[in-house]
Amino acid sequence: MKRFALAGNPNCGKTTLFNSLTGSSAYVGNWPGVTVEKKEGKYKKLKEPISIVDLPGIYSLSPYTAEEVISRNFIIDGKPDCVINVVDSTNLERNLYLTTQLLEIDVPVVIALNMMDAVRKSGDTINPILLEKEIGVPVVCISASKEEGLDELMIRAYEESQKKRTSSSVLMSSELKHLINDVELSFRGLKVDNPLFHAIKLVENDEIEVKTHPQLLGVVDEFKKYFKDETFGSDLEAIIADSRYKYITSKYTAAKTKKINEITKSFSTSDKIDRVLTNKWLGVPLFLLILFFIFHMTFSENLFFLGGLFANIPPSVEGTFFEGLFWTSSGINSPGVIFANLLGSTTTWLTEVVSGWLSSSPQWVAGLITNGMLGGIFAVLSFLPQILLLFLFFSILEDSGYMARVAFILDRLFRRFGLTGRSLMPMIMGFGCSIPAMINTRTLSNDNEKIATIRVIPFFSCGAKLPILTAVAGGIILQFGIGNADVITFSMYLLGMIVAIVSIILMRATIMRGPVAPFIMELPAYHLPQFKALMLHLWDKMKHFIKKAFTVILAFTIIIWVFSHFSFSWQYLDDVDIDKSILAGLGQLITPLFTPLGFGSQLTAFSWVFVVAAFSGLIAKENVISTFGVLGACVAGAIIDIGGDGGVGAVATMIQGTGITIPGLIAFIAFNLLTIPCFAAVATAKAELPKKKFGGTLAFWLVTSYAVSSMIYLIGSWWWTSFIFAGAIGVGISVIFIINKHRDKKERMAS
Ligand code: GDP
Ligand code: MG
Repeated sequence: MKRFALAGNPNCGKTTLFNSLTGSSAYVGNWPGVTVEKKEGKYKKLKEPISIVDLPGIYSLSPYTAEEVISRNFIIDGKPDCVINVVDSTNLERNLYLTTQLLEIDVPVVIALNMMDAVRKSGDTINPILLEKEIGVPVVCISASKEEGLDELMIRAYEESQKKRTSSSVLMSSELKHLINDVELSFRGLKVDNPLFHAIKLVENDEIEVKTHPQLLGVVDEFKKYFKDETFGSDLEAIIADSRYKYITSKYTAAKTKKINEITKSFSTSDKIDRVLTNKWLGVPLFLLILFFIFHMTFSENLFFLGGLFANIPPSVEGTFFEGLFWTSSGINSPGVIFANLLGSTTTWLTEVVSGWLSSSPQWVAGLITNGMLGGIFAVLSFLPQILLLFLFFSILEDSGYMARVAFILDRLFRRFGLTGRSLMPMIMGFGCSIPAMINTRTLSNDNEKIATIRVIPFFSCGAKLPILTAVAGGIILQFGIGNADVITFSMYLLGMIVAIVSIILMRATIMRGPVAPFIMELPAYHLPQFKALMLHLWDKMKHFIKKAFTVILAFTIIIWVFSHFSFSWQYLDDVDIDKSILAGLGQLITPLFTPLGFGSQLTAFSWVFVVAAFSGLIAKENVISTFGVLGACVAGAIIDIGGDGGVGAVATMIQGTGITIPGLIAFIAFNLLTIPCFAAVATAKAELPKKKFGGTLAFWLVTSYAVSSMIYLIGSWWWTSFIFAGAIGVGISVIFIINKHRDKKERMAS
């Protein structure tokens, strides 16, 4: 089967084109480098099926990161039958830089001028016929997202794939022409494939090339002795880059005509938006505001702080289906809460129906099914609407191109402390799930930066941790009657981010000192997110979540139920007797360890439940709440149940049953947020980290979560302890500062 590869800069629309051609549902993101894995699919509209490969985005064929190496190797050694060079036409000059390098390989190339819809909209025009004449390979105008021009593109690519193409280079008009010809001849003598490409890379002093063909370096060195360029001296790499750009602007971009008033306007819409959103002073506050708005829309029970507008409702609606669903005496519900309420009443009803059926079966069967299985799963599932809504918002931010700006804004702020935008991008991905985020650290070229980033990725609260935040926040509100769900969840997300940033700064100042790599990022133009892509992403998330609920989480709730309903001598225990269970026995062994965190021995009853829940989170974070769901039903028997559905109800019951305080609960959230992540994330971290760094990473998670949570509990319970912590932190910072000064001095003297 013939194989076509999609190559191009990050964000030029390769994945969108891939999805349109193959009908696959690969996720479309706006991160430079979101395509980590090799994606392959089939195009079936031609005489024979064609295999299409989506490559990681690259700016040039001299790679720096592991991902870029994948792309280079595939194009050179994978022998694709045609390379479809996807070009973002709104950024023609920069994108054609890669094109000039692809042309140097003996492979059929077709250029897909993508985003032509956006070019048309801006009023510019590009003449593909003119461009095709200059470049010498087919040029086709397309719009991947609007699915325009795709048939023509594939027909022309197919035609090309049946011919042989010999390489050509725009450098043949430069002053290096003779050198390149000489080196190419030597490569031909060695019978190497693609001699022109390798010759140019060697002249460019490309790292990989120098390593693989050091024997030919002599020719280049000899040449350098007698050669001096006016501006670049004998820096051949700079001369080549410069020649490429000069060629592009003089020959290729003549095909583009700008709309007249566009030139006088000089600022594109994206630039205008960016003047506000990435403003030096407004950037960070606006980011926090946007984030808060998202949490407000997802969790608030007092939308836009309108208060109890409907408190005095006409008696005709009072007590109907609508009350409680859309509003309460405290305010109007946000969309997230409305969806959650709908689901909550459905699951409550289902549980009642099932327990009705089981009323004549043995008590333990009814207990296992309603309290164990249904209680556990529904406690987690009750947060699905809010998780999905939050993801919808995050996907919109990502697809529109805003998240790339966030990396840019924060880079500017934290670069001085050794934290760069490059590592911020995988971190922000961690809001979805730590696993792809950790894999994405392959885009980082510096080892220290990579290790530090992997360590803090779990602090960016992932979707599975959300139920913990929401359920505990809901429990606090229900039980103590204070706080707002949106404010509490937002603050916990912020806490995670702050701990991550502080941790990186600390690591970079102590054990991982070193230079900060420059961060060059293209800010992609703002795009209106595609509805289809958003829905596909949500659908994927939902499938994944439900599958997990009925496998890992279900299995674990059954385990928790069994261990909490049998004693060490395997006797069945009633709900109220769970304190005598195996689970309680095991939990009590380690409970004292958590006393400084506020959920240990000081609790008046069932002191082990929080510890057990936290441990169950090591398998999957959703288990924390499903465990509460199972145990809550038992604790409820010992107290007066105050109501509340699903996970929130379970936590409220736990609070009443154990007598835990608010600082203890906040510390509990913080501990779960910051401690060792779920099993799958730990395995990913192990695979991505250098061998020697894995143990340290586990220790780092344990120490950080323990320290931060105990600080929260202690300061929350006894405000004056803040002075002790402030003092200790002050001393710590001074010590680091002094040691680093000393080290710098020594280094300066040594050099
Ligand atoms: P990749 O990094 O090269 O895989 O790029 P993606 O396929 O992820 O696309 C990056 C962004 O460009 C996404 O927001 C797409 O919706 C958008 N995009 C892709 N193709 C087009 C197009 O033809 N027109 C417009 N206006 N936007 C597009
Ligand atoms: Mg992609």
